[in-house]
Amino acid sequence: MGEATSKLFVVSGPSGAGKGTLVARVRAELPNLGLTVSATTRSPRAGEVDGTSYYFLTPDEFQRRVDAGEFIEWAHVHGNCYGTLKSEVERNLSAGSSLILEIDVQGALQVRERMPEAVLIFIKPPSLEVLAERLRGRGTETEESLALRLANAERELALIDRYDEVVVNDDLDEAVRALIGIIKNHERS
Ligand code: 5GP
Repeated sequence: MGEATSKLFVVSGPSGAGKGTLVARVRAELPNLGLTVSATTRSPRAGEVDGTSYYFLTPDEFQRRVDAGEFIEWAHVHGNCYGTLKSEVERNLSAGSSLILEIDVQGALQVRERMPEAVLIFIKPPSLEVLAERLRGRGTETEESLALRLANAERELALIDRYDEVVVNDDLDEAVRALIGIIKNHERS
C-alpha cells in the first residue's frame, strides 16, 4: 500500500527524428520525471558540463566500467561509446520517479532484455525523405555522414515492431501531446 509506482520509459529512433527536442519539451511539462546522466567517450561540446550533460569518460575508463558490469546498456553510436549507468536508473526508480532514457536503438533493445517491464517508445520521422531534409537542414552533416545516418535510420526502422509504442514526429506539438499521453497511460496501468 502506498508504494510509489515508477516506470522506465525508453525513447529512441533515428538520428534526426527529433527525439532530443521532443523529450526536452515533455520534461518541461512533466517536471516529476527523473533525469539520468549518460556516460560517453565523446568530447564535450561548447557549453556541456561534466556530470550534467554527460559523464565524459576516457575510452579506458568507459571499458573499465563495462567490465565491472556498471552499465544497464551501452552501445557504439556514430563512432563513440555511450551508456546508461545502472546506478543512475536505480537511484531514480527507488526514489519513486519515472524516468525517460533517450538512447539509441541498440541500447533500447538491451534495456528490453534486462528490464522487460520498460516501455519502449519509437520516435519515427514522417518519411526517410523528411529525415534527409532535416539532417541536411542542420548543416552539420557531410554527404558521407548523411548517407551513413540514413542507412542507419533504415536499419533502425526495421526494428520498430520490437517497440511498445510509436510516435510519428511530424508536427512537434502533436508529438509532444502523444508522448505525454503514452507516459500518463502507462503510469496509470
Ligand atoms: P550526442 O553525441 O549528440 O549527444 O548523442 C548522440 C546519440 O547518442 C543520441 O541521439 C542518443 O540517442 C545516443 N545516446 C545518448 N546517450 C546514450 C546512452 O546512454 N546510451 C545509448 N545507447 N545511446 C545514447
